[in-house]
Amino acid sequence: MKKSERLIELRQRDMVETLKQYGIANQRVLDAFLEVPRHLFFQEQAWELAYSDGAYPIGFGQTISQPYTVAFMSTLLVERCPSGKVLEIGTGSGYQSAILDALGYAVYTIERIDELYERAKKLFIKLGINVACRLGDGTLGWNKEAPFDGMIITAGAPGEPESLLKQLGENACMVIPIGGPSCQEMTVICKKGSQFKREGFHQFSFVPLIGKEGWCDTVF
Ligand code: SAM
Repeated sequence: MKKSERLIELRQRDMVETLKQYGIANQRVLDAFLEVPRHLFFQEQAWELAYSDGAYPIGFGQTISQPYTVAFMSTLLVERCPSGKVLEIGTGSGYQSAILDALGYAVYTIERIDELYERAKKLFIKLGINVACRLGDGTLGWNKEAPFDGMIITAGAPGEPESLLKQLGENACMVIPIGGPSCQEMTVICKKGSQFKREGFHQFSFVPLIGKEGWCDTVF
């Protein structure tokens, strides 16, 4: 193993130790974090930044989410919907998609910004990550591929997008931050028959979910 590879492995292990200290205990999630090298989803060689617990700019006013946030959302999903088809809204850097792929899901992801979509698509091919990606307004979901066993919305929504609720399968769950422009409550919505059961968790701060069933882009 080369010295740089050894260094990356050590950084990844440190990041996973930090996640454990923050209360992430799901072994499948921790293993996925060890499997996916986060620095590959950064534009420049930024090893120090990549393995610290922060959200960082990826261009176009967007961010790669903090590892803790990705781990927390992934845990909420894995514990309720352990396998199957997952729809992610907000591909961004592609890191969350890669974590979902490492968790064994069939991953579908939608991004609204052309340049980020193209960049992530190329990266998935380069890294051999099998993710179906689409450019478009994710608030409308991916009707042709529905129903989904799980959904992860990685941008802050003003409310529950109706189209996404309709594309949840039986016993499927959506993990979605809902609230105002600067602060949102992490929410899990699970479908049981014709009912939806909701659970709220602590507050996060996401970039906005912009679209027909999200925020209007003139607000920002
Ligand atoms: N999951 C990403 C990652 O791992 O890097 C982080 C995503 S970033 C916090 C949120 C992303 O959601 C941005 O790339 C943004 O362009 C995208 N987004 C916002 N509204 C969207 C929409 N309606 N449909 C698809 N993507 C959207």
